Amino acid sequence: MPRPLAAFVAPIALGLGLIVATAPAVRAQQTQNEEAERRAKVLSLLPNNAAKRIFGTTSGPARMEARAIGSYARGCLAGATALPVDGETWQVMRLSRNRNWGHPDLIRLVESIAKRAPKEAGWPGLLVGDISQPRGGPMLTGHASHQVGLDADIWLTPMPARTLSREERENMSATNVARSDWMDVDPAVYTKKHLALIRLAAREKAVTRIFVNPAIKVALCRDAGADRDWLSKVRPMWGHNYHFHIRVACPAGDATCTDQPLPADEDGCGSELQTWLKKQYAAMHRPKRQGTGKGKPKPPPRPWTLDDLPDECRSVAVAR
Ligand SMILES: [Zn+2]
Repeated sequence: MPRPLAAFVAPIALGLGLIVATAPAVRAQQTQNEEAERRAKVLSLLPNNAAKRIFGTTSGPARMEARAIGSYARGCLAGATALPVDGETWQVMRLSRNRNWGHPDLIRLVESIAKRAPKEAGWPGLLVGDISQPRGGPMLTGHASHQVGLDADIWLTPMPARTLSREERENMSATNVARSDWMDVDPAVYTKKHLALIRLAAREKAVTRIFVNPAIKVALCRDAGADRDWLSKVRPMWGHNYHFHIRVACPAGDATCTDQPLPADEDGCGSELQTWLKKQYAAMHRPKRQGTGKGKPKPPPRPWTLDDLPDECRSVAVAR
């Protein structure tokens, strides 16, 4: 039996102070009711001018020229398009979240990967998780990034050969690919097709980074064989054991978009990966800390307002 999700994510979050970074893996698993409850709670605590509230409750895109504005974890998105919820070789999950919006370049790329996945990776089709909100921006739940429409989560579960019902898309759970000790993949779940799909995405020129759990990177490093160029883009990250995360570069000529430097040009299978594994293992196995009652709890950080985002995000927020 897998341990309850909270049991393995919370220690990492505690141990590494990376609550935000680990959140997406958990969120992918949250059912519709759990997500609704969480949203309601966040909304009840946020001031009216909070950027999360503004961007998290807007239901449609800003009908402007498509632009990624700001950086992956601090920005917004103009002129977004939606990935259709059904394609021949993809299905969008968790529809109630309304996060299947992205920069048109990214949406085209996801469709292209989905179309080629069966033939080129033996992967029947994509189950697509969160991309961005209709106007990007910070979210009420999960994800520090995904703010400018250039990030997409793809489930590590192959698409079934039938159209999932709305209810299934809201509540079915993705597959955890990590082994129970988190040092490698679970051989009962992981297949070479996982590698083939991730490699297919990594070979796309526009893709600059793919995030996977360190345990998955171990398997990719082992199974890649002689052709290893694509591995440099596949970076270890907490969570990402139910889905992998595709990040693309700023669209050419988009002056409002801030790119990230490219990862080092080596396969990343050496000491860096070992460090990630050790930290993850330690966080999972650390005895639970009991509150001592000493010291004041830190006040929560002040929620961002539009002042904390690039100026252009104001016009995106108010556009019709
Ligand atoms: Zn993601």
